[in-house]
Amino acid sequence: MIFCRGRSVAPGQSLGYLGLVRRSLLAPPDSSEIPMAILIRGGEIITASERYHGDVLCEGEEIARIAPTIRDGELPTQTTILDAKGKLVFPGFIDPHTHVYLPVSGTEANDDFASATRAALLGGTTCLFDFIGPAKDEAPFAALEAWESRAAQAFCDVGFHLAVTRLDEDTEPEIRSIVRDHGHRSFKVYLANYAVGIDDDTLFRTLELARELEVLTMAHCENGALIKGLTRRLRADGKLGPRWHYHSRPPRVEAVGTALLLAFAELLDVDVYLVHVSCAEALDEVQRARLRGVRASVETLAQFLLLDRQRTEVDDFEAAKHIASPPLRDAENHAVLWNALASGAIDTLATDHAPFDFCGQKDLGADDFSCIPNGMPGVEDRIKLLYTHGVCRGRLNLNRFVDVCSTRAAKLFGLYPHKGTVQPGADADLVVWDPRHRSIISAEHQAMKVDYNAFEGFSVEGRAEHVTVRGELAVRDGAFCGTPGRGAILRRTLSTTGG
Ligand code: MN
Repeated sequence: MIFCRGRSVAPGQSLGYLGLVRRSLLAPPDSSEIPMAILIRGGEIITASERYHGDVLCEGEEIARIAPTIRDGELPTQTTILDAKGKLVFPGFIDPHTHVYLPVSGTEANDDFASATRAALLGGTTCLFDFIGPAKDEAPFAALEAWESRAAQAFCDVGFHLAVTRLDEDTEPEIRSIVRDHGHRSFKVYLANYAVGIDDDTLFRTLELARELEVLTMAHCENGALIKGLTRRLRADGKLGPRWHYHSRPPRVEAVGTALLLAFAELLDVDVYLVHVSCAEALDEVQRARLRGVRASVETLAQFLLLDRQRTEVDDFEAAKHIASPPLRDAENHAVLWNALASGAIDTLATDHAPFDFCGQKDLGADDFSCIPNGMPGVEDRIKLLYTHGVCRGRLNLNRFVDVCSTRAAKLFGLYPHKGTVQPGADADLVVWDPRHRSIISAEHQAMKVDYNAFEGFSVEGRAEHVTVRGELAVRDGAFCGTPGRGAILRRTLSTTGG
């Protein structure tokens, strides 16, 4: 099932990417089939470090050649030619943090891997990472099967991080096997008081194991005891509406969780990745730890750059649309996060896509904010939001935009240089971007399977005009044309921590 492409690797450089389980290997293609070829002609190619005009020829699943001009006579027969004049050519964007399949108490997130990857591709994201999340009383192998089997319908490639929710003699052998044999080489831990949250002893042993197995540990850093205690007090005071969610987990709750994780990382000498950092207080802890030599990578989300606490400081239950953890913060944090993104203090931009309907799911918490399913949808809109508010507003240059939306995640999670850049030999995951397109975000015409959009009414610039998944068109002229099951499950050989 697993294949290695045998690409030559420079001495000292790890391949970092074992390969893909491809459905085509389960049912071998007709040998008379002519390999697909696509020429992207006349676009401006943007990587994390370069910007130049050129033609990109994709043959089979990879980028075969890049040259200033590739003439018709040089093309394989049956090459599809896409005119990219006046357009930008990006490496496929990578969302390192989504929850497509997310069972929570009493319900589960609305999307499936077909609908979520379709939405992702329409937005220019060609690869996403979801989380295998065993319940505390569930075997990791059972969760592996639950997530992998659902991902078989994906239109784009899917990687998995493994949530460590219990670490003992029963689960440890399976956790080791999921890393070594199944190629899911990153851990996720929850310090918050969730059903899947872990205590400090388990955190210690998980980080020890991560160091031994050379996997990167991602952490949700909010202090569980503080959330629990503050929530109890709010409820006792009858403060049960959605606006009180913020007050159950103010910035200091995230900062102290962040400081704790960083202290463990420092004393155990292990790399960590902080998911969804939302505020200056938490980022301050990271910066101070980095100066002590702690190796920490930081992720933020589009909602923390563009939405603020005013969305939830209303008496209307509409506020529930924007309830997530950590909560939306005061607008003063926006400039800090943008500056951190531009300077490299923040590494990646993700969505934490978690699509729960406003009607029928969010309202499970109509009488108690702590029962509102947490999260917002976003996998479809991340790139156009960051392009508009980052690139077009002058906050990020195009190289930095590519880095935070694609290259950095590819490096951190062991996919680079197969993904995350535009170069010969890389997977032909490409986005031809029309910078002149204008649209307005609305749930009415979105592909995500959820009844609202957290960015309803936002005007955005640019769109993914053509998108390829390993050399096959999934979006053409802005319209979806993907093949079900085209997506593969990514099997990684190591996480190149620190990239
Ligand atoms: Mn999450």
